[in-house]
Amino acid sequence: MASFNPKDVRIPNSHFIGGKAINSRETINVLRPSDGQAYASLSIADVDLVDQAVENAWQAFKQSDWASRSPRDRAKTMKRWAALIEADVNTLAPLEAIGSTRPIAAAAQWDIPFCAEGIRFFSEYADKCGGEVIPTANGSLGMTITEPYGVIGAIAPWNFPLVMASWKIAPAMTAGNAVVLKPSEMTPFSVVRLAELAIEAGIPPGIFNVVQGDGRVGEAICRHPRISKVTFTGSTKTGALIMTACAQTGTKPVTLELGGKSPQLVFDDIKNIDKVARRIAGAITTNAGQVCVAGSRLLVQKGIADQLVTRISELFSDMVSGPTWQNSSTLSPIISARELERIDGVVQRTVQQGGEILVGGCRLHEQGQSAFYQPTILTKVNMSMEAVRDEIFGPVLCVETFETDDDALQLACHPSYGLSAGVHTADLNRAMRMVNELEAGTVWVNRYGRSWDFAIPTGGFKGSGIGKDLGRYAYEANQKVKSVLIDF
Ligand code: NAD
Repeated sequence: MASFNPKDVRIPNSHFIGGKAINSRETINVLRPSDGQAYASLSIADVDLVDQAVENAWQAFKQSDWASRSPRDRAKTMKRWAALIEADVNTLAPLEAIGSTRPIAAAAQWDIPFCAEGIRFFSEYADKCGGEVIPTANGSLGMTITEPYGVIGAIAPWNFPLVMASWKIAPAMTAGNAVVLKPSEMTPFSVVRLAELAIEAGIPPGIFNVVQGDGRVGEAICRHPRISKVTFTGSTKTGALIMTACAQTGTKPVTLELGGKSPQLVFDDIKNIDKVARRIAGAITTNAGQVCVAGSRLLVQKGIADQLVTRISELFSDMVSGPTWQNSSTLSPIISARELERIDGVVQRTVQQGGEILVGGCRLHEQGQSAFYQPTILTKVNMSMEAVRDEIFGPVLCVETFETDDDALQLACHPSYGLSAGVHTADLNRAMRMVNELEAGTVWVNRYGRSWDFAIPTGGFKGSGIGKDLGRYAYEANQKVKSVLIDF
């Protein structure tokens, strides 16, 4: 998609409740990550407005035909929504790009189609997943029936605003629920356009609602007694707060997709070093490393370490920084000046602790590009350093070397995170040993990252989360299971 002028983009800066755009009195300025300029003001919800959104959702769940209409018809409506989203790329992609870290080319070619296809994927479960008939001990007819929860609260992060939201709302709505979504206060607008298109597609007003605001609004959603389940994507720290808030209203189920510190294990039997280098570089520079599954720890066997790292450095220097509205930009900005400061702080402290910067290690200061961080490689690091231990959420790759498979596994083991891992080897036996022993919710072998694999669940072990997004598990997590026993 061509470059665009940010001034030409219509910003739907509202809540969206009961099928209508609604504004509230308290507002905050929203900044463009590319240059830190305020480009719109955002209405912030208070507890009463959260209550209004949840009540609208509840009424729509009870009174519209959404939950009771035939699953096939619900699927058709969801598919119509997906088609409208795809056809709206010229509106949605600039809206996504202007206020987020997604360059326009990536937004148009990946985020918008991926969001639409995710909705289409989940719609197909509507009439293909349900209860089962179960043999019983005494000849009764035993079965399970699945039912929607009612109103599901969805809380989303800023790093892929549309895609992350769609992974929450698509399974929830396909299963017959109403949803109250709170996007990140840093990237709040594109989901409002999604809500407008939902109405156009024939989804009843009130089934999909958006409330705007920061963590206080998220907490009000979690604590609301009419919210039956919360699905969250964000940091591990906030995930713990969400569990605590949900526990205030009893036993409210949660799905938590949280942070990670994912290792990439590269063995010296790989056939094509250039191909693997591209994979490793892509896994830490996509969205400037602001990805939950960023491959942020490279563990490489000694014999090929220098060659691999040199090639990754060359690939880093090919990245083109520039505002997200320029179609030549391939390196994303960092979401905010505060985050940029934090990332640089981690890198500088690592150097003080004995780490070395091989490439990068500073902000890009060229005119108008102060929001970018140079893709960085840190060496001479270990798990006692925060750069290796903590999620940096920036384009910073920590490199460690190993000699044996056991060493690789030992280095890979993280004390608290277990989101994903990559294994790069030509030896299938070795790969399967790594798959079995790595503590990670997803292990990619000879590839890294999720392209269009909606059917494969995603979700972490340990501090990286509870439950799954995507796949059948994600769909089923949006339904209650009722057991029925009938005697004749
Ligand atoms: P964050 O935890 O700061 O915020 C996420 C959302 O939670 C935002 O909408 C925020 O307003 C809201 N929130 C903040 N405090 C809250 C509270 N007390 N109660 C309820 N809601 C609250 O995360 P972020 O900075 O937006 O996103 C980056 C994080 O998300 C990273 O840690 C990343 O790894 C993680 N993430 C995980 C996945 C995954 O699938 N595992 C995907 C994307 C991002």
